[in-house]
Amino acid sequence: MKIVMLGAPGAGKGTQAKMIAEEYAIPHISTGDIFRANVKGGTPLGMEAKAYMDRGELVPDELTVRILLDRVAKDDCANGYVLDGFPRTIPQAEVLDSELAKMNDRIDFAIDVEVPDENIVRRMSGRRACLNCGATYHIEHIPPKKEGICDNCGSELVLRDDDKEETVKKRLAVYHEQTQPLIDFYNKKGVLKEVDGTVDSAEVFAAIKKVLA
Ligand code: ADP
Ligand code: ADP
Ligand code: ZN
Repeated sequence: MKIVMLGAPGAGKGTQAKMIAEEYAIPHISTGDIFRANVKGGTPLGMEAKAYMDRGELVPDELTVRILLDRVAKDDCANGYVLDGFPRTIPQAEVLDSELAKMNDRIDFAIDVEVPDENIVRRMSGRRACLNCGATYHIEHIPPKKEGICDNCGSELVLRDDDKEETVKKRLAVYHEQTQPLIDFYNKKGVLKEVDGTVDSAEVFAAIKKVLA
């Protein structure tokens, strides 16, 4: 099963993708997590990506596509995967589509997690991220068991640099301009599924399971 998660920054794509990955035993692939791991490790890729991320802009397609195609070529992706944060532009979606078509394959579901912009800014200021394992929490809605510490791996949780209000507003504008057109792209392919992302995360997941069943 090959799944793409769509939705604004902070809609809950990562939260849901992690649950899907566990339920269906497929890898959760987040381009944002891959970039952040490279930033943290100080690699050349990380240094290039950081400049864009800090401004709330997208990393160029060419670089992003290369990273993603390398990742999905790995053995653990043979039975599918859930992509979180990719594709984010029409050209990215087209490359993914044509690479899959070469193997007589395609995306099975594109799940759009719908949350209005007004809710997003509030959500992001409460987000806390683990840069070690990619887990995310929310100080009110989804708190870790111990304040400031990741439940999974025990690392310290941080407020991401790009989760500041001004950068979030910029990312939302970029989302509407460059990413939202993907909803129509996948709708035309007949694989789009929309779920309400404003309800509690367990309810969102229940709606997604219904869609995938
Ligand atoms: P969020 O989960 O809040 O939407 P991500 O972790 O997916 O954020 O992405 C953080 C940043 O990483 C983006 O603002 C962008 O700069 C970069 N990024 C991640 N995925 C992509 C992509 N597919 N194309 C271009 N840039 C990306
Ligand atoms: P995305 O990957 O789309 O950027 P995340 O999964 O990181 O979004 O979620 C953004 C923030 O909102 C995080 O702090 C997360 O804990 C919180 N969150 C996720 N789902 C919900 C939900 N259904 N209700 C309230 N908060 C949520
Ligand atoms: Zn962790």
